[in-house]
Amino acid sequence: MRIGEAARRLGVAVHVLRHWDDEAVVVPDRAPSGHRDYTEEHLHRLRVLRACQDVGMSLPEIRQVLHRSEPERADVIERQLRRVRTQRARLEAAERFLVHVVDCEHDLLTRCEACTGYAVGVPLRPPPHRTPAGPDPTTPHRSTVAG
Ligand SMILES: [Zn+2]
Repeated sequence: MRIGEAARRLGVAVHVLRHWDDEAVVVPDRAPSGHRDYTEEHLHRLRVLRACQDVGMSLPEIRQVLHRSEPERADVIERQLRRVRTQRARLEAAERFLVHVVDCEHDLLTRCEACTGYAVGVPLRPPPHRTPAGPDPTTPHRSTVAG
């Protein structure tokens, strides 16, 4: 199928598929006329690629994960798992905090030991396992609840 149909079926823009081709992440066949020709196998790979992106992986990381023989593969996956687990821990802490706050009877959160306790538990520095690819979107903001 042509790139337009592949993009429509995946729900992405055509230029995204061109980019992934240029970056050699998913390279379609070429028709005799020169246009890109996507098969069902390409669509399958593209869906896997999107799943990897959904869990926060960059294109270079995805390239390393797609092939079992890549030497850095285990490291990339391990780093990604740590990232996901850190995010989950933060989200769970945020949930506990909010569940408490909704029923907190203190006039000021800063006067509540439990609220302050949650704030103290918020990590103030980004985790040490950030990738050099760019800023981590999960970088925590400094808490303004404590103090
Ligand atoms: Zn409280």
